[in-house]
Amino acid sequence: MRGAALVAPLVVAFAAIQIASRGTAIPIRALQLLALGAPALAGYVFARHGRWFGGGALALNAAVGALLLSFCGAPLPPAAPYVGDLPPATPPPGLAVYQLPTGVNHRTAAFAYRGGGFGDRRDFAMAAALIVHPRGDLLIDTGFGRDLARQIALMPWRFRVVTDYARSTPAADQLAAAGRDPARLAGILLTHAHWDHVSGVADLPGVPVLVPAAERAFIDGGGWITAVARTIPPARLAVYDFEGGPYLGFPRSHDVYGDGAIVVVPAPGHTPGSVIVFVALPDGRRLAFVGDLVWQREGITLRQERPWLMRRAADLDAAAVRAGIRHVAALAARFPELIVIPAHDQRGFAALPRLPAR
Ligand SMILES: [Zn+2]
Repeated sequence: MRGAALVAPLVVAFAAIQIASRGTAIPIRALQLLALGAPALAGYVFARHGRWFGGGALALNAAVGALLLSFCGAPLPPAAPYVGDLPPATPPPGLAVYQLPTGVNHRTAAFAYRGGGFGDRRDFAMAAALIVHPRGDLLIDTGFGRDLARQIALMPWRFRVVTDYARSTPAADQLAAAGRDPARLAGILLTHAHWDHVSGVADLPGVPVLVPAAERAFIDGGGWITAVARTIPPARLAVYDFEGGPYLGFPRSHDVYGDGAIVVVPAPGHTPGSVIVFVALPDGRRLAFVGDLVWQREGITLRQERPWLMRRAADLDAAAVRAGIRHVAALAARFPELIVIPAHDQRGFAALPRLPAR
């Protein structure tokens, strides 16, 4: 009885994390019953079997209760309304953007943002986007590459136990199937250097990997989550500067081709050198590839940050992420034509066509 009282809250925590992370088929009803039963059991043990075991079990239950409460919704306060206009852009007529889905991670809304449901399964997109530009085509991130299994083996067990993925066609193979020589890419523009965004870099040998200086430094010091990025030959990492002025309320910017069509701004927090890539399409639409600022679009539309556990695991500077969420939410409110594409939200990518096979 005493042992069960101590183990029960740990089972609740483990089950909750498993359900949120993998969409595991543990019935949520069973979790709810366990979450109610565990404190009751602890109270019984406290009253009948002694203060030490019972007190310890009650304290564990309190900690697990705090963990579960940290998944509840808590909208961030809105930023002041954004009053600027859309910056001018003259995208060339040939500019086009395609989605290259490479697989999914089976997760839930609860994993992605505070207030998300444990039973609300979300297949996180693992994707690249291809920007076709007359001056040189770019990939935004790479999604899952051919070497995924070996890369996952580089991850710690605590990551693998909460990750359940399915792969499809790597970006390099999709480019080849469409008759596009991957070697002709002008560069791979990373939203950040986490493993799941650089997994396919090795399939695109020789293509420069474009990162700001802060992310270049983070690759070396990022621990296991940049272990895959550290397998990129350093000579391929091309560091760019934010030489341009303010852009949509961000302090600095990098206009890749000088035509306002592809503009990168710093959005640190998730990683030190995380960026947002704004793309202006010839038809007037604007895209915002916000990387992992949020994992699902509700992070922006509801201004909900990641739950505490996921912030701890994934974000280096949660306060900076919060500021980024509030600012992008203000931009989204000001510009309904802005399509916000979080790197792991399939609904965002649905706005982009697939690459036609030739
Ligand atoms: Zn990611």
